Amino acid sequence: MKKFCAAIVTIVIMTTTFATVLASSYVGNANSLKFHYADCSSANKMNPANRVSFNTRDEAINAGYVPCKRCKP
Ligand SMILES: [Zn+2]
Repeated sequence: MKKFCAAIVTIVIMTTTFATVLASSYVGNANSLKFHYADCSSANKMNPANRVSFNTRDEAINAGYVPCKRCKP
C-alpha cells in the first residue's frame, strides 16, 4: 500500500511540473532583455542558459524585458 501511495504522489508531481512548463507562454532572453511568445523562432533559437520563462506579458515587462519585434508579444 505504501508503494502505491508513493506512485500516486510521483504521478501528481510529474503532472504539475508538466502543466507549469506548458503554462509559461512567454520566454525572455536574459542576455538581450527581449521577450517572445514561446513559439517564436527566435525564442527557440536562443541559448537555453539565457532562457527565462514568464506566465504573463506584465511579468516580463515588470522584469524590464522589451517585446520582440518579430513576434510582437
Ligand atoms: Zn520573438
